[in-house]
Amino acid sequence: MPELNLVLFGPPGSGKGTQGERLQEDLRLPYYATGDILRAAVREETELGGTAKRYMDRGDLVPDEVIVSVIAERIDSPEAADGFILDGFPRTEPQAEALADRLTELGRSLTAVLLIDVDDDEVVRRLGGRRTCEENGHVFHVEFNPPEKEGVCDLDGSPLVVRDDDEPEVIRHRLEQYHAKTEPLVDFYDRRSLLRRIDGAASPGEVGAELERTLATLRLEADEAI
Ligand SMILES: [Zn+2]
Repeated sequence: MPELNLVLFGPPGSGKGTQGERLQEDLRLPYYATGDILRAAVREETELGGTAKRYMDRGDLVPDEVIVSVIAERIDSPEAADGFILDGFPRTEPQAEALADRLTELGRSLTAVLLIDVDDDEVVRRLGGRRTCEENGHVFHVEFNPPEKEGVCDLDGSPLVVRDDDEPEVIRHRLEQYHAKTEPLVDFYDRRSLLRRIDGAASPGEVGAELERTLATLRLEADEAI
């Protein structure tokens, strides 16, 4: 079976986390989210973890070459022999270049970059409509999952509030950041014919089905290439 070496992209509110979890279960591949990997490397006290920790303890950003090495350490581990799913990495073009170089050194390459595409208005609609229970964090949505009584948690009667993260101006800011950082990478991978766009405006079930179809096509192409 050919390897499936995947990168998952998508704006906040695209359902990327949900789809990533589902992919991980379906494909039985390790799912690497950068923040988690860095924390695990620090916890497991690997050499690179120690280096990363020195930056984090000072409150500095961990430099690209350290992040790339930490990710490469994972990719080169037995659990990732059949493939992996990266989330939150690469974030910049230099990181993408470095990832490509390290994969080449390992005799591997990316199979595809999956972009769950959702337009900004839909993101604002999804995230901006969220209402969170003040006491226990239960989440509702004014449109998709409204509480029985407006502004009150169905489960414990606590007031429902808009989390800071879900304020429209904060969402717009997160989207600006996403576009500024991610769009150059979308072009980068598109030029290398690795980009696959998934329409993220559909329901989670339909998005999952489209991801499955895309992966089936990728596997066919990989089989034919052998
Ligand atoms: Zn509640």
